[in-house]
Amino acid sequence: MSATPERVAELETNLATVRERVDAACAAAGRQPDEVTLVVVTKYFPRSDVDALAALGVTDIGENKAQEASAKLAEEGGAPEGVRTHFIGQLQSNKAGEVARWADVVHSVDRVKIVRALDRGAQASGRSITGLIQVDLDGSDPGRGGALPADVPALADAVAESGLTLGGLMAVAPRGEDPGAAFVRLAEVAERLRAEHPDATMLSAGMSGDLEQAVAHGATHLRVGTAILGSRPSHR
Ligand SMILES: *Cc1c(COP(=O)(O)O)cnc(C)c1O
Repeated sequence: MSATPERVAELETNLATVRERVDAACAAAGRQPDEVTLVVVTKYFPRSDVDALAALGVTDIGENKAQEASAKLAEEGGAPEGVRTHFIGQLQSNKAGEVARWADVVHSVDRVKIVRALDRGAQASGRSITGLIQVDLDGSDPGRGGALPADVPALADAVAESGLTLGGLMAVAPRGEDPGAAFVRLAEVAERLRAEHPDATMLSAGMSGDLEQAVAHGATHLRVGTAILGSRPSHR
């Protein structure tokens, strides 16, 4: 099944709009657009959209549910040629082995148990995986995942000592707060991380609603769903 011509046109238009927003945010921040990677989040949308996006030049695809993502990106013939796959959702350690079979980058490493499970899975499938430590910028809502800033150094050491590559950090801006203020705190955590791990330069922050603030505060990877794919089917 491939996407209809109407759907391809819609994705193309939305992608162009988001790329313009990213370019404008980079210009405003004095950054180069090639410093920022757009990870298009395709959760709840069909494989045909993933293929259409790849044909439109998207290089990075993100998913947040282990089972759905494995079905979409591993079982259906693997990810499209040349596309990097990102797992961005909360991860249970019993699902980590499955994710390790297909993910190139896991953004949601938030405890040592996950590091171990991903490391085992990567070794079993002979793959190399980059791990980002998810930072909890709120602290009052543990259900959303993430490690508290104070716990990041020890977790970073655990990733660096494992077979995973320590890529950097990821965060979701807390609800009910100015995302810019939250991303300032994230940038501080990132700076401390780079003092110990100079190669851990990835900073995954910014979604459809706050990508400008994320670019302003140093994001290298934006995770954008709705602005490109439209409202998720479950929200219709
Ligand atoms: C769904 C999701 C996104 C994308 O959010 P949009 O607002 O649709 O752009 C980004 N990050 C994570 C962790 C997500 O689960």
